[in-house]
Amino acid sequence: MITIAVSKGRIYEDALPLLAAAGIVPIDDPKTCRKLILATTRPDVQLVIIRATDVPTFVEYGAADMGVAGKDVLLEHGAEGLYEPLDLKIAGCRLMTATHKDAPELSGRIRVATKYVKIAQSYFASKGIQAEIIKLYGSMELAPLVGLADCIVDLVDTGNTLKANDLEPRELIMDISSRLVVNKASMKMKHGAITDLISHFEKALAIRN
Ligand code: AMP
Repeated sequence: MITIAVSKGRIYEDALPLLAAAGIVPIDDPKTCRKLILATTRPDVQLVIIRATDVPTFVEYGAADMGVAGKDVLLEHGAEGLYEPLDLKIAGCRLMTATHKDAPELSGRIRVATKYVKIAQSYFASKGIQAEIIKLYGSMELAPLVGLADCIVDLVDTGNTLKANDLEPRELIMDISSRLVVNKASMKMKHGAITDLISHFEKALAIRN
């Protein structure tokens, strides 16, 4: 059995065509079904549906053989314990700094609200900016509006969430896409099955691109 960890939402929706290329079609739909383990049309493959930030943990500990995770999540988690064989080029977005639209350029010591503590720390350190990082778990956009932080670090796709909250994107930290990650022991123990899946995904990506 190969277990693949995927998070609900955009990553799941974008991953479905790639999984289908390897003959993997979930039997239940996680939007309507509360099962956390989904059987698929391949009796040797099952999906586990978990939070995006938990995917590297499940794969690192071997609770899942493979997973699909955003580069943002992998960088923040630290992906030394995982193989990252493929950029699936799905769920694309940008990791950016953003401030109130009327805010002056950032200078001096600043406060930054984000769930990406490690990434933000190393980004501002690399720019020589003294930043106090405040960890939040959601609604980052609120922080500059209520005086909690001068700026936020968050994912931006259309920019509509920032705009709706009178914020604007400032600096691009990095382009983000979702990656296939593989447990290191699984890569050895289930080598044939895993490399076969990877080559199906690669072919589907080549056709799509
Ligand atoms: P948008 O309004 O389209 O710029 O989307 C921004 C909101 O969606 C923010 O709350 C982001 O954290 C979230 N978001 C955007 N793209 C992604 C993605 N690829 N994965 C997870 N969250 C995302």
